[in-house]
Amino acid sequence: MIAAGDVVLVINAGSSSIKFEVFEVPAAPPPIPRFAGQLEGIGASPRFTAKDAAGTRLAERHWDDGNAPANHRAGLGIIIDWLEGVLAGRRVAAIGHRVVHGGPDMAAPVMVDVAVMERLRELAPLAPLHQPHNLAGIAAAAERFPGVPQVACFDTAFHRSHAWEADTFALPPEFYARGIRRYGFHGLSYEYVARSLAESEPALAAGRVVVAHLGNGASLCAMRGGRSVDSTMGFTALDGVPMGTRCGQIDPGVLLHLLTTEGMDAAAVQKLLYGNAGLKGMSGISQDVRDLEASADPRAAQALSHFCWRVRREVGALAAALGGIDALVFTAGIGENAPAIRAAVCEELGFLGIALDPALNAANAPEISAPGAATRVLVHPTDEEGMIARHVLGLLQRSENA
Ligand code: ADP
Repeated sequence: MIAAGDVVLVINAGSSSIKFEVFEVPAAPPPIPRFAGQLEGIGASPRFTAKDAAGTRLAERHWDDGNAPANHRAGLGIIIDWLEGVLAGRRVAAIGHRVVHGGPDMAAPVMVDVAVMERLRELAPLAPLHQPHNLAGIAAAAERFPGVPQVACFDTAFHRSHAWEADTFALPPEFYARGIRRYGFHGLSYEYVARSLAESEPALAAGRVVVAHLGNGASLCAMRGGRSVDSTMGFTALDGVPMGTRCGQIDPGVLLHLLTTEGMDAAAVQKLLYGNAGLKGMSGISQDVRDLEASADPRAAQALSHFCWRVRREVGALAAALGGIDALVFTAGIGENAPAIRAAVCEELGFLGIALDPALNAANAPEISAPGAATRVLVHPTDEEGMIARHVLGLLQRSENA
């Protein structure tokens, strides 16, 4: 029986990091954030940091003694040892995991059992850089907390409402049947924004909304009535707009050219597209918008200018997919904090009824559209971990009531 005061642990296990957040089970939703942190640099030089909900640093550790955690299992052990100290005997009621791929069928979070784990392992070839790490996180958590429910929450699930036209590539149908289709990602972020807008702005949330999740990874999503209609990311999280280190949309002919005429092998192309493209690759300076904005190097300005150009194009494309636009919502690290980027994206979008109020935009205000503009423009924080915690509580409560 889940009870107020228990905690839900949320784990986001990436390729070289494990992020976590602890939520207290409230008397009434939403879950209350308590602690958050991460172990970065797994396999290289790991560093553990943690803070409380007010942002006060509670822990900082690195290892110079050769005892650094070498893998995800050991890394999760470090996190749980620390948590046991601060949780002071509170019961971990469930653990929610961010899992990048739920395949064509998973349209909602699921309780993990042996069969689900097997199915998620089968999907690993669709997301080889992420899925194995997500699953390693689940396995490690299950080992350390035997009997505690583990819940998988998928980045793809929110987009399962897409029509076939949005989901398919223009390939013979057997490719679609083999799972080669546009899944879309960042779904937990979009779902959080959709739910939160439905609470604060129900009339707007019922309409046509384009959400721009612009962080280190970046994508945009077209929603109607809070449901995903289309998204810029496709088969993998490479497609769509340029990102910190990823290329975004690229003519597939370029890949053929690199592989054949230029003689690059698949591993080199993968490294280029995922790790050495986007803002970092174009500028040769950094993947971080703050560094590029501070730089006098013309390559920094060019990279940002191209990024804004592509984001603007996608806003237009998604507005077309929706047959119009009632609101544009900026979220994630860049979307929430970079006024110059938002201004550049919106600059030529007057034809969609978009106009910004410069002072509100400069202040990262919750609403930045000019008074009287036909289309509202919002800055809305996202919370993927909070969304996972809500899912976990919802699933537990439904299974207790069943
Ligand atoms: P992730 O995809 O890793 O979750 P975030 O959503 O946290 O990424 O976004 C991180 C990015 O947000 C940084 O790399 C940086 O480019 C950008 N960013 C964060 N704060 C600012 C700021 N004040 N001004 C401009 N860009 C910012």
